[in-house]
Amino acid sequence: MDMQVVNLTDRLGNSKMMSILRIQTCLLKSMVDYLLSRGFVWILPIMLAKSTDPLWPDPSYSIEKRVEVEIYGVKVKTMQSMIVHKRVLVSLGPEKIFILSPNIRIENRDRHATGRHLYEFTQLDLEVAYAKMNDIFRLFEEMIKKAVEDVKKERREDLELLERDLKIPSTPFRVYKRGELEEKYGANWEEIISIESVDPVWVTDIPRQFYDYEDLETGEWRNYDLILPEGHGEVLSGGEREYEYEKMLAKIRRDNLNIEDFKAILELARRGLLRPSAGAGLGVERFVKYVCGLKHIGEVQPFPRIPGQVIDL
Ligand code: AMP
Ligand code: MG
Repeated sequence: MDMQVVNLTDRLGNSKMMSILRIQTCLLKSMVDYLLSRGFVWILPIMLAKSTDPLWPDPSYSIEKRVEVEIYGVKVKTMQSMIVHKRVLVSLGPEKIFILSPNIRIENRDRHATGRHLYEFTQLDLEVAYAKMNDIFRLFEEMIKKAVEDVKKERREDLELLERDLKIPSTPFRVYKRGELEEKYGANWEEIISIESVDPVWVTDIPRQFYDYEDLETGEWRNYDLILPEGHGEVLSGGEREYEYEKMLAKIRRDNLNIEDFKAILELARRGLLRPSAGAGLGVERFVKYVCGLKHIGEVQPFPRIPGQVIDL
């Protein structure tokens, strides 16, 4: 599929696009219903802020440009993820929250070729005060399984039109440590494990941003990715979180980040008000791509946001 030339008339009236959008609607409804039934509070997104996810040093970091604008004489960034705001919310407000959160990440333009990157996408982003890794595993396993079951029940004709034979995932998903996968498969472990698995798998202990919990004695990071089968790759990242002031400050310095950008959350931590929590963000378009069995993530969006390719609308 040539995603460069997008004919919007053909695209939006097309029965394939319609099926994808109906499946997406069904998945979102199923997941939102699930979270509401579990007592989560639904928060609306924010898009411009002084604090956002630095993304650095995530191993998959590839940002070509950071978008900053000045409003009211103050410099703000477009949202790369609401991690800082999620942490503040579950510390001072409701203990269980979720957000359908639009993210702008100007990924390197070469990433059009991965079939998995967009420069605008949406996360189903959630956070739970006092939760641990296993709580978040069980939550997503149940939510994902139910969402797939609902699509198979309610959108059977759409799956048929897409010629998608979708397996209901078996739970619990297997858990691997990044180190053991690296040893077995080398640097390309994500792709290989994704192609080899028939169900989604968890991968833990991934060195990355300062806010994920790192056990300084064992060197273990209590964080995780969820990798989808059939080569669809990573669909979710999350972790238990740091909450101690000195440790966060040291990690922010270690990553060469600007302390000013994280002033508010650091101040809360300094005052002992930051609650421990765990959470994760699921990439909605990547999840829809998998459920629909598509080759390129751009196929999910009515107005594709493919790196390097800005369309007229
Ligand atoms: P992260 O915490 O950066 O891994 O982002 C959370 C999830 O959002 C990822 O696991 C992906 O499913 C999704 N995601 C991240 N970056 C992109 C992107 N450039 N395009 C589409 N989805 C993305
Ligand atoms: Mg990730």
